Amino acid sequence: MRHLLFSALAVSLALALPAQGRAAGFAACVDGLKRAAGKAGIRQSVVREALGIAEPDARVLRLSTVQPERRIPIWDYLAFVVDDQRVREGKAAMRKHGATLRRAEKRYGVNRHVIAAIWGVETDYGKTAGRNFLPHALATLTCRGGRREAFWRRELLAALRIVNARDLPLAKLYGSWAGAFGQTQFMPTTYRRLAVDFDGDGRKDLVSSVPDALGSAANYLRRAGWRTGQPRLIEVRVPGGYRGPEGRKRKAALDSWASRGLERTDGRRLGGKLRAGLLRPAGPDGPAFLTFRNFDALYAYNHAETYALAVAHLADRLAGRGPFRAAWPTDDPGLSRLERRRLQELLIAGGYDPGEPDGKIGPKSRAAIREAEKNLGLPVTGRAARRLYRALGGR
Ligand code: CA
Repeated sequence: MRHLLFSALAVSLALALPAQGRAAGFAACVDGLKRAAGKAGIRQSVVREALGIAEPDARVLRLSTVQPERRIPIWDYLAFVVDDQRVREGKAAMRKHGATLRRAEKRYGVNRHVIAAIWGVETDYGKTAGRNFLPHALATLTCRGGRREAFWRRELLAALRIVNARDLPLAKLYGSWAGAFGQTQFMPTTYRRLAVDFDGDGRKDLVSSVPDALGSAANYLRRAGWRTGQPRLIEVRVPGGYRGPEGRKRKAALDSWASRGLERTDGRRLGGKLRAGLLRPAGPDGPAFLTFRNFDALYAYNHAETYALAVAHLADRLAGRGPFRAAWPTDDPGLSRLERRRLQELLIAGGYDPGEPDGKIGPKSRAAIREAEKNLGLPVTGRAARRLYRALGGR
């Protein structure tokens, strides 16, 4: 669960202050947070250790105001989020934690492939849960001012309450810059509401306990309205020139979709009373899906249709189903994480500077890609994609 899109204005105002005044303002604000935590019953030792900080967290300030260069196309996003490596490692993780997943499926009624897919998309099965110290990050976001101050303050107090309840030591409170943490990335208030002790050791530990993390994700989905045994999405073919209703929320019975000429791409008959909405994430020329109530539960986990689509698709892949039948409307498809890393290596070998070859495509990689595209006479996109990859000798 991530929280994005805050006004950059407050930060630019804060940064305009002389350094000394800024530090004093921050210290006074943190003192106020310490008093609030004391009033909320947090032990003084926890308050002192958590909030013994003198300055805002520079990285959090930077990350919270970075404007994404532009939305990346959905085929790029899905190519690296649901790549063969994540499917392979997900199957291995499911074998290793099979007993836990089956138990969570039984207790919460949520399909085990879906639970594993959330885990895979959120933190790559527990490998990348974030490295920001939450009290520092959340104090920074609270004390920079801005319209979401009360939101951050609530999350900070919730994080301290988790420590106060001895579910987690302070040293485990590391996560995203925006406060989501643990193997299934809960915000602190969500953690307090919905985390479960699924391994029965008396503590809710979504950081180190795989059973607690997976059980909690399943509990979240159940509370978000998951319906046991119902589908998430199915891929469909839409008749040419279709002009009917569209969108996740504009649901109709499968029978009614069939009467509008839609067909399943897997050859099975489309029909019944279950309700679904028609989602065409890349418009009329790309893959089309009917999405059900359970897709909305995935959407509730992290408010983006692309995210819900990635989780639903990864779950299908983990269950042994293939890629989407329809192609995305592009002649320059996206790359897997392995290929992204390989592309960076090829750029370095070609004399460009994309930064560390880590598979992450940041501003430096994008600049190197644009430069290479220009030199090779290719359309300049700045994307890590197949055309440049091939042109540089990738296979
Ligand atoms: Ca536990």
